[in-house]
Amino acid sequence: MMKLVGARWLALGLAGLPVTGDAHLTGEPGHDAAASRLALAWRPAPVLALVAPARAAVPLALGPAAAFAPFAPAVRVRVEGDFLLVESEGLPAHGMMTGITAWQQQVPLPQPYTGANAWRIPLRPVPAAAGTPIRDRFLRGAIALAVNGVPIFNPQNNRGAVSADIGELDRWGGHCGRGDDYHYHIAPLHLEAITGVGRPIAYALDGYPILGLTEPDGSAPAGLDVWRGHESPGLGYHYHASETYPFLMAGFRGVVVERDGQVDPQPRAQGVREALTQLRGARITGFEELAPRSSYVLRYEVRGAAGVVAYRREAEGVWRFRFEEPGGDIREVTYRAGERRGGGKGKGGGPRREP
Ligand SMILES: [Zn+2]
Ligand SMILES: [Zn+2]
Repeated sequence: MMKLVGARWLALGLAGLPVTGDAHLTGEPGHDAAASRLALAWRPAPVLALVAPARAAVPLALGPAAAFAPFAPAVRVRVEGDFLLVESEGLPAHGMMTGITAWQQQVPLPQPYTGANAWRIPLRPVPAAAGTPIRDRFLRGAIALAVNGVPIFNPQNNRGAVSADIGELDRWGGHCGRGDDYHYHIAPLHLEAITGVGRPIAYALDGYPILGLTEPDGSAPAGLDVWRGHESPGLGYHYHASETYPFLMAGFRGVVVERDGQVDPQPRAQGVREALTQLRGARITGFEELAPRSSYVLRYEVRGAAGVVAYRREAEGVWRFRFEEPGGDIREVTYRAGERRGGGKGKGGGPRREP
């Protein structure tokens, strides 16, 4: 199953569609290549006219813009004041969902992280006087943004449990939230296959980069502080990911604003249907994108019986879902953005809710 999915992604990449992950596995982006990709990714937006002329804190070739460049055009960046604005639909080029054994019945939908709802990465991170731990805090929303445009949440889920420990995550470290928004809860170390070892795989929302397990020369990081970060010549301050808790930085060394349990401001996910509950005993066995950003099928099993959730975009913000339940029931429901049900029984009915 996974081989099939991989082949499909590769084929899409070769066709020049906005699924470019595999296309970059063959080489590390050099300085010039990254710069030209950045130029291609550059998309002036009307909002630029309203702000002061862009000025970068560091040469773009060395800063976060270069880190996101290998994922253009799915990820687009532009400078606005002291921020790098990053636009994406929040979906990776790799597989999703397979391997999850604690499933809240949500599925990945493209998200509008664009325009005024883009990610904002500080180009001039400001060291905080004391720093801010993330354990049992920032349990809502993202704490970092992976360089492929996928948000990274606290390793603890919104109830405080470590997602990686309880079967919530797929084999890439992600799953979907209540708005059908895909996000990681651990460091996406697998992105180093595309970025190159020792390059940033994410940016914390305080503006500092997150590297993988090693330095660019392959050596183990030395002298990490309580936030799992350190300064080094040429790189400046950066965090290192880990393979066990906390997986990411242990807190923000830089200034962030905490409001209502999350870093503020940050983009909002947009759901089109009700938030659901865990389907007990379910295991996700496969997930495929049948047409780029518009048609998907998720397969799962509950105690040996197979279920399917197939869904496709019928128009902007309109998604048609077909639920084939393990018990044999088949239902189809059309959801429209802006008519999100509040969790009650909507017209046509949603997937079965656990009591
Ligand atoms: Zn989550
Ligand atoms: Zn380091």
